[in-house]
Amino acid sequence: MKIAVCPGSFDPVTYGHLDIITRACDIFDRVYVAVLPNLGKEALFTPSERVEMLIRATKDLDTVICEEFNGLVVEYAKLRGAVAIVRGLRAVTDFEVELKMASMNHYLDKDVETIFMMTSNEYSFLSSSAVKEVASLGGNVSAWVPSFVAEALSRKYSHAQKAEIS
Ligand code: ADP
Repeated sequence: MKIAVCPGSFDPVTYGHLDIITRACDIFDRVYVAVLPNLGKEALFTPSERVEMLIRATKDLDTVICEEFNGLVVEYAKLRGAVAIVRGLRAVTDFEVELKMASMNHYLDKDVETIFMMTSNEYSFLSSSAVKEVASLGGNVSAWVPSFVAEALSRKYSHAQKAEIS
C-alpha cells in the first residue's frame, strides 16, 4: 500500500488545498492530512478547529485521514508508514521555501521523498492568508473555501470586531 502525507497549517483549509489532496488520492492508496505546528505563522484557528474543518471538507474522500501532529513531518511520515510528502507549488516564491524544506527533510530522513504538485490554474493565487484578509474585511470568500469554513471565518472576525468595539 502506497501512503502519502499532506502536511500544512491549513489555517483554514481552502479549495487550493483540497485540489492537492484530491489529486494525491488519485496516486496514493491512503493520504494522511496533518495539521502541523508552523512556528513562523500565528494561527487564527486552533489545531483542533483546523482538523475538524479538514475532516468535513474531505468527508467524500474515503482514503483520507485528517489529524493533528506535533513534531517533525518526517517523524509523522515514518509513524504513518508514508513513502512521500506531498506539497503544492504556486508561485516562484513557494519554490524557494519548499526547496529549503524538502532539502532539510531529505537530510533528516532519506527514505521519505517530497513530491510537488503544481497548483491548478484557478487556485494559483489562492492562499489561506489571502482568504483571511478578505474575510477580515467582510468580503465574500465563498469561491475559495467550503461554506462552513466561510461561516467559521465570519464568526471569528465578528467576535474580533465586537471585542475591538467594546
Ligand atoms: P504551510 O504553512 O506548511 O505552507 P499551508 O496550509 O499554507 O501550510 O499549505 C499546505 C500545502 O498546501 C503547501 O504545500 C502549500 O504549498 C499547498 N497549497 C496551499 N494553497 C495552495 C493552492 N492554492 N494551490 C496549490 N497548493 C496550495
